[in-house]
Amino acid sequence: MSKTGKVYLVGAGPGDPELLTLKALRVLGAADVVLVDDLVNRAILVHLREDARVIRVGKRGGCKSTPQAFIERLMVAEAKAGRTVARLKGGDPFIFGRGGEEAEALQRAGVRCEVVSGITSGLAAAAAAGVPLTYRKAAQGVVFVTAHGSGENEPDWAALVKTRMTLVVYMGVARCAAVRSALLGAGLPPCTPALVVENASLPRERQLRTTLARLAEDLLAHEIESPAIMMIGEVTRERYAGVFADEAAAAS
Ligand code: SAH
Repeated sequence: MSKTGKVYLVGAGPGDPELLTLKALRVLGAADVVLVDDLVNRAILVHLREDARVIRVGKRGGCKSTPQAFIERLMVAEAKAGRTVARLKGGDPFIFGRGGEEAEALQRAGVRCEVVSGITSGLAAAAAAGVPLTYRKAAQGVVFVTAHGSGENEPDWAALVKTRMTLVVYMGVARCAAVRSALLGAGLPPCTPALVVENASLPRERQLRTTLARLAEDLLAHEIESPAIMMIGEVTRERYAGVFADEAAAAS
């Protein structure tokens, strides 16, 4: 039997192909099989070997999402057949990317796994908008949180508000009204500034400056769609990129 291969959980970054790490480049150039998520910019695939087998496992573009269990079984099978597998995920594999579940499945199956960090979209959104997520005067830390949880998995918004840290909300577009209610209910002032970045780091990126009170209406009015990051907190008043057009242009 051939030697067992290895699976690399590789962060593809937020979209801009230049935001890939050198390590990701090297791993992608060596992979026999590459499983690609839908938020991964196709431009990154030029770094694959010509004979690499590419399997798209995304759910956008009208296709149904590939079941997680199938993805995990496929990675295990390919690695056990002696192949080097790269599992290419948007942003960082360990930030809301099911990287944890996949690493666990690989470990259970006795397959070696290595994580190659990527730039998570929350950081890319902040950089694009010139927002320092931590700032001595305003925020002593930053929280990456999903808006997607519900029921038992719903984030404890009240506890988060108490920290007075910057909130960077992933998967928030569809649930922005619920997130706003939760934050207002927890005592975060309605005038708290917020900045939303859609398609951060891509040519079609848009930025929208708003407040907690107007969050849901503004997202709707400007037809902001997923993928987008919502940054909520005083630090979003600070902008250091020096490339900002006026507010209206930034929202268009
Ligand atoms: N592992 C990814 C996150 C996957 S969850 C990462 O580290 O970035 C998917 C969510 O990520 C989206 O709903 C959106 O909130 C965010 N996202 C991913 N790419 C984005 C981009 N280019 N711009 C803004 N948000 C993005």
